[in-house]
Amino acid sequence: MLTISWELPIADCQLIRFDVISEEEARKRILEKVSTLEERAVPLAVALDCFAARDYFARLPLPAFDNSAMDGYAVVGSSCEKGGRLRVIGEQPAGPDRNLHVGDGEAVRIFTGAPLPRGTDAIVMQEDVTRDGGDISLNVNVGAGEFVRRRGCDLAEGQMILARGERIRPATVALLASQGFDDVIVGGKTNAAVISTGDELVKPGEELQAGQIYDSNSALLSALLQRCGVSATAVEHCRDDRQSLDDAIKRGIKNHVLIISGGVSVGEHDLVKEALRELGAKIEIWRVAVKPGKPFLFGWFESETVDSAGETPAGSTGTIPALHKCFVFGLPGNPVSAFVTFLQFVRPAVLRMMGATNLDLPQVPAKLAVGLTNDGDRPHYIRGRLEHEKFTPIGRQESHALFGLSQANALLRIDVGESLKADEIVDVQIWD
Ligand code: AMP
Ligand code: MG
Repeated sequence: MLTISWELPIADCQLIRFDVISEEEARKRILEKVSTLEERAVPLAVALDCFAARDYFARLPLPAFDNSAMDGYAVVGSSCEKGGRLRVIGEQPAGPDRNLHVGDGEAVRIFTGAPLPRGTDAIVMQEDVTRDGGDISLNVNVGAGEFVRRRGCDLAEGQMILARGERIRPATVALLASQGFDDVIVGGKTNAAVISTGDELVKPGEELQAGQIYDSNSALLSALLQRCGVSATAVEHCRDDRQSLDDAIKRGIKNHVLIISGGVSVGEHDLVKEALRELGAKIEIWRVAVKPGKPFLFGWFESETVDSAGETPAGSTGTIPALHKCFVFGLPGNPVSAFVTFLQFVRPAVLRMMGATNLDLPQVPAKLAVGLTNDGDRPHYIRGRLEHEKFTPIGRQESHALFGLSQANALLRIDVGESLKADEIVDVQIWD
C-alpha cells in the first residue's frame, strides 16, 4: 500500500501576482503539465470508456468463415432453377462444421450463421421452397452467392480495429470480444476526489435551515467525472474554515486529481487559494478570461510516495521514491461556472491523463435561432438547446441558473466583441 509523505514543501511566502489569462493559454498550460498515467490491462467487462493504450489489429477476419445469412437450404447455385427438385442430404446448424459435401441436385438444411457446406455457394430461404419429405422444390431462381456472408467481407485479418488513444465504446468492446480478446491495455486509472466548500451547503436528504442551500456541485462534478470515465473516489463537503479545508485537501491530494468547488473567488470566505499555497501547492493559474468561470484555479502538489511503514523511503528501504502528483482544479461555486470550467479545463486534463487522443468536446454546426452579441470583456459560453440543427439559448444566462443549464444540451462560445446574427451557422459544443 502506498501512502503520501506529508513532508510538504515549505510555502512560498513571496507574493505572487496572477494575471487573468486567456482560455487558450490556460488550456495550453494545463495540458503541458498533465501527463498520461501508467497503462494497465483491464478485463473487457470494465473497459468501457477507457482509452486504448496501443493499436489493436484484427486477429481474425469477420466473418471468420463463409456462412449462411438465413435459415434455409445450402445449394449449388449454378445447378438450381425455379421448379427444380433437390434431395436434402443433411443438416448444418450454427456450430461445429459437420463437413458435409453437396453436389448438383442436393441441398443441406442450414441455419443463420452456420458454416457453408463444401460445394455450396448459395442459400435458398426456407420461405422460397416447398418441403416434400426428404426433398425440396424451389419456388424461385437461385443465383450464386445469394444469402451467403463471405469470410472477411466485414473486416480483414490484420486491419486496425482500435487506435491508441481511442475511447472504448460499447461496440468497441463487442469488436474486441469478437476477436477473442478478453482484456485490453488501456490508459491509467485516474483517481479523483471532489471537495465542495461552503458554510451554506447541506447534503441532499438533510433538513435545510434558512439561508442554507443543498450542495448540488458534488453531484454535478461526480456526474461530469463519470462522463469522462472516472468515478470519484471521495466526494466530501467542507466548511469555510481553514482547519476543515486543510484536512479535506490533505485527504484529497492522495488522488491524481482534486476538484474543489467554491471558495476560489476574492471574498474573505474564499480560502482555497491560500490553503493550497500554504500546504505547498504550486499554483499555476488563477483567473481565466471566461464567462462564466473567471476565478478558475489550477495548480498541483508534488510529493514522494512512501510505503505505509516508513516516513521517508530513501535510506530506510533503499528504494527510489516515486513522485506522486495531484493536479488541483479550483472551480467557482456557482453551478454553471463549475460546469463550464469543468468542460473547458478539467475534462481535457483528465482525458489526457487517461490516454485519450481527442480532448475536445464534440462540435456540430447549428443555425442560431436569435442574434447574439458579446459586448463584455470575456468570451461567453451561452447555454442552449440544440434541436433539429438549430441552437436556441435557454434559461437565464447567469452563473447561478442551474435550471436553465439542466434544460440545455449545447454551449455556444461567443468571443469578445463578436456579433452573431439570427440564422447564422455557428459551431456549438455538445456534451450529452
Ligand atoms: P463561491 O464560489 O464559494 O463564492 O460560491 C459562489 C456561489 O455558488 C454561491 O452562491 C454559493 O452558494 C454557490 N455554491 C457554492 N458551492 C455550491 C455547491 N456545492 N452547490 C451549489 N451551489 C454552490
Ligand atoms: Mg463559498
